[in-house]
Amino acid sequence: MSVYHDEIEIEDFEYDEENDIYHYPCPCGDRFEISKEDLLAGEEVATCPSCSLIVRVIYDAETFKSECDDETQLNEKVSELTLEKN
Ligand SMILES: [Zn+2]
Repeated sequence: MSVYHDEIEIEDFEYDEENDIYHYPCPCGDRFEISKEDLLAGEEVATCPSCSLIVRVIYDAETFKSECDDETQLNEKVSELTLEKN
């Protein structure tokens, strides 16, 4: 059994768009990290690379997935428009 240091809602995480990673400050001074990919795969444990603490990410997998789908569709539309211009 894993023992979580805390349970944090996904809304409280900072999102790093460049690396597709959600992060949250860890008491050790580093930060807990979990990638968007992991969340989409159903993973809900964010880990701190500097200490042994872990936190559970509270999020709704279905909502999260549909939000990501919207984003993907938007990106596809943008690339279609770019193609049409050329
Ligand atoms: Zn830490």
